Amino acid sequence: MYIRTKKNIGEEEKNEILKFISANKLGTIIKEEEKYFKIGLVGNTEKVDLDILLSFAGVDEIVPIGKSYKFVSREFQPEDTIIDIKGKKIGGGHFLMMAGPCAVESRESIFKIAEAVKKYGAHVLRGGAFKPRTSPYDFQGLGEEGLKYMREAADKYDLLVVTEVMDSQDIPLVEKYADIFQVGARNMQNFSLLKALGSCRKPVLLKRGLSATIREFLMAAEYIVAYGNSNVILCERGIRTFETMTRNTVDINAIPLIKEKSHLPIMIDASHGTGRRSLVQPVTMAGVVAGADGAMVEVHENPECACSDGMQSLYFDGFEKLMKNLQKLLEFRKEIL
Ligand code: PEP
Ligand code: MN
Repeated sequence: MYIRTKKNIGEEEKNEILKFISANKLGTIIKEEEKYFKIGLVGNTEKVDLDILLSFAGVDEIVPIGKSYKFVSREFQPEDTIIDIKGKKIGGGHFLMMAGPCAVESRESIFKIAEAVKKYGAHVLRGGAFKPRTSPYDFQGLGEEGLKYMREAADKYDLLVVTEVMDSQDIPLVEKYADIFQVGARNMQNFSLLKALGSCRKPVLLKRGLSATIREFLMAAEYIVAYGNSNVILCERGIRTFETMTRNTVDINAIPLIKEKSHLPIMIDASHGTGRRSLVQPVTMAGVVAGADGAMVEVHENPECACSDGMQSLYFDGFEKLMKNLQKLLEFRKEIL
């Protein structure tokens, strides 16, 4: 549900509407259009007599949104969301490449990787400092030390930092070092984490859950937006299927479908999506042809010795090749999408 205000509405008339909404314990998401506002209502509107609003001077119409996800839908916002992070953009035709190791392993290693991925055209340095590992005995990440190394390396090579936050209590720490919070697949429905990230200002990269439907994925994004942070980037990273020869099955359908249903940018992560180095380039390209606004790939200076996900990490030359081919593909895509 959103309220469409009259054109050229005055401050006083707008405040009257907002007062009514807050008196009824509802939140708002306000979008300024050219001459009017869309005031989205957040919370349970069932017990509120919204028709009263129709008698307000500034109200033009009350528009129902017949979706469980509202504010991330194209109905609420027809145009693509463009997220601008320190001048680097994603969405609305802007493509963002995120690359780096699965986990930050040492200062030396992350500097080498940052230098290489920057050289070949990445915009964002990825790397986990808090790792969600299936086994409690596997490498769990370097924690704050890892965040520091990553920030230093990113600053040296003019890159942004994206890194996973696994727990709400770590948000202030991660926020100190990162430009983008990553919510991992295993946490896509950690609603308290999503709500907490809703009250942050930095963008959130939300990865699709291992067995999440597209609707559940969009609903998870809706949590972050409804709780106040509209800078959400979605990421298709493959889902669990009966197939065992690959780590996951990339759901290419999800990319054009999400672009139809939502204004949020969507990326492809073919590293976790396939689990196989040889498939990373072709499947990243497939995602880009399908309309992805960005891509994430794992890159390591010596994948054979990586602490995690070495099998799916590109060597530097593999990343260079991917970037060259992507450049050509993005040029070509302008003509077909
Ligand atoms: C990652 O990107 O580091 C990661 C753990 O991916 P996912 O949450 O998609 O498994
Ligand atoms: Mn990984």
